[in-house]
Parts: sequence; C-alpha cells; structure tokens
Amino acid sequence: MVDPLNEAEKNNVTFSSLGLSEPLVKAATEQLYTRPYPIQRDAIPSILRGKDILGIAKTGSGKTASFVLPILELFHRTKETSGRYASVLVLVPTRELAGQVADVFQTLGAHLFPKVKTVAVYGGVAINPQMRAVYGADIIVATPGRLLDLISQNALRLSDVEILVLDEADKMLELGFADEMSKLFTLLPKKRQTILFSATLGDAIQDINATLLRTPIKIEVAEEETNLDLIEQLAYKVDAERKGPLLRYLIKTEKMKQVLVFVSSTRTADNLVVKLTKNGIQAAAIHGQKGQNIRTEVLQKFKAGQLTVMVATDLLARGIDIQLLPYVINFDLPRSPKDYVHRIGRTGRAEAKGKAYSLITPDDEHHFKIIQKKMGKRVEQVDTTEVDLKGY
Ligand code: AMP
Repeated sequence: MVDPLNEAEKNNVTFSSLGLSEPLVKAATEQLYTRPYPIQRDAIPSILRGKDILGIAKTGSGKTASFVLPILELFHRTKETSGRYASVLVLVPTRELAGQVADVFQTLGAHLFPKVKTVAVYGGVAINPQMRAVYGADIIVATPGRLLDLISQNALRLSDVEILVLDEADKMLELGFADEMSKLFTLLPKKRQTILFSATLGDAIQDINATLLRTPIKIEVAEEETNLDLIEQLAYKVDAERKGPLLRYLIKTEKMKQVLVFVSSTRTADNLVVKLTKNGIQAAAIHGQKGQNIRTEVLQKFKAGQLTVMVATDLLARGIDIQLLPYVINFDLPRSPKDYVHRIGRTGRAEAKGKAYSLITPDDEHHFKIIQKKMGKRVEQVDTTEVDLKGY
C-alpha cells in the first residue's frame, strides 16, 4: 500500500535538499530536471557520503545524473581539481555511451568554478589526441580496451583514482571486456569509492560486487512499464492538408485542457503554435532552437496548467516528466515504433487513463501498420473525410 505521507515527503525532495549546491541545481533546472528521479533521490546523498553503490537500473531511469551530479558536487566542495592524473574514472561499454556520459558531466558542470575537466576515451579512433587530452583531466570516461592502451603507452595512470564508476557493467561483460576489466581493477588504488550500475544482477555482477564493493548501498529501480491497456489509442485518417484544422477541431470539441503534441520538425512546431494561437488556443513550443530559459518557462507553464498545448519534438520531449498527462497527440508519426510507445507512455500512468491520438495521412499508413505490429496492439482507425473542418 502507498503511504500517503511518505509519498508527499518524496514529492518534496528537491535537488538542493539532496545536498547539491546552487551551480549544479541551476544546471539541472536548465536541463528541465524539475524533480529528482527516484534513483537520484537514493543515490545522490549516499554518493556524497562516500558510500559504495550497487545500482540495478536501466537507461532511462536517470542513472547517469544520479552519479554525475554528486561527483561534480564533491569537486565543487573541495574546490580541488586533479593533478596530472584523473581522480574519477567512469568505465562504459561503448564509444557512444562514453561520449554521452562525458557530455552529461560537461552540461551539468557548466556553472562550476573551477571548471572540472572531463575527457572521453574510446577505441576506433586515433589514440594520439586522446593521449594529450587525458593529461590533467579530472574525470575520464573510458571504454576498457582503449584505457588499457593509454596506460601501456604511459599517457595515464590510475594511481590517483578516488571514485570508480562502472556504468552498464553487465553490457561490458557481455561485450567481452571481462579480462580488460580485471586488469584495470588491479591497477586501481585499494582505497576508493566504487559505484556500479547494471541493468541486471547476474552471477558475474555479483562476483564484481563481492570483490570490488565495500558494503554497498543497494538501489534497485523498477522499470516503469508503459501499460498500453491504460491508454486509449485512436488513429485519425486524414489528408495532409487537413491535419492542422483536424488538430484544432479535436482540441476544441474534446475541450482538452492539457495536451502534448508531437511533431517531427522545429518548423512544424513553430507553425502549429502560430495557427493554434490565432484560433484562440494557448500554445507554445519547446524544441532545440529555443533558448534554455524559454524551454524551462514553457514547461513550467504547461505543468501548471497555464498552457493548453505544448508542441514538442522528440529530442526535447525526452526530459519531460509530467505525471498524468491526459492527452498526447502525434501530429506527425515518429520514425521508430519505440518512440511511438515512449511518446504515448506519457499518458495513462498509474491508475489514470489517458488518450493518445495519431493523425495518419495516406503516406503514413504503411508505417503505422509497422508501428502497430511492433507494439503488438491494433489501433482503432477513425475516418475523418466526413468531418466538417470549416472554421477550424
Ligand atoms: P539515463 O537513464 O541516465 O539515460 O537518463 C534518461 C533521461 O532522463 C535523460 O534524457 C536525462 O536527460 C533525463 N533525466 C535525468 N534525470 C532527470 C530528472 N530528474 N528529470 C527529468 N529528466 C531527467
């Protein structure tokens, strides 16, 4: 049973109440992180206290910021940056993840002074620039093989590492990095803090846990499954030029108060907002070409119910965390079925039913069939040829 008091307390948790300083709270807010995710609520204070962490969490849980924020906070508190060799090492399975995690360190550390230097190193590209870049870096995000190469070429030592993060440890093992990892572990100082994230807790991960971690705090994040049964999906068949009027018709006739509309381009987003506004519907867009402050403001207004329609591109929608959104409309279909489920999953959470509508042009029909097949659910189609859209 849900303890209401406890729930209320959890909802009051802010990034500052978890122990983060102003420059980090500011950066998190700019990224539209309004409230800490559960994993962040659990991990941030423990990491700040120097505890080892065993985290069972997948991508999408907010695990990256759950270790990036407290690590940056520790730099901020000591005002010390590393010497020649990095004091934080993050091991990741792939080149893409290395780049992504390093980016998160940079973005969330944007307001820190002194600056914290993060460098990503991975295989498949020339080693020389990386040999130079790691010199004097505070944080190194690396794939295991390339890190060993850099060490064997004397570009780097692990002797100063105080915090070790193993991100997606199960994937590292899956990709055959076990030997490289064991070798790296022998090169690390014994006295250090270790943070391990894995999507699953298999035997190999248990072994790493037993040998590397000291009485870790275990954090497990249950994945929030998109419950398709809670979402009423409808597909409106419509010609491309009638999409705009149909959207306004739906918003008005269903008296929607809060609707998130997805589009595929920045231009469509801006056009829609102009037309909606002309029709007396309060709307604003968030997309990559809007400044950070505007995005934050729009999102806040939308959440507060002061804005009927928020138009978003997928990219910007990733960070949007709104519970109990009543309506999602796909003005344009997303390319991947996964994105489709992700988009409509913003409605129909917990016990509240939500509605997800998609506008399907003749050109979209084939693609929409694929989406339905992948999703494993058929969506009822509504023919709109007879709908009179005059005046919308
Ligand atoms: P991750 O699980 O680390 O891959 O993060 C998943 C996504 O959630 C990323 O796009 C983050 O930018 C976003 N995110 C992380 N923490 C928060 C938060 N507290 N509020 C909103 N979005 C977040």
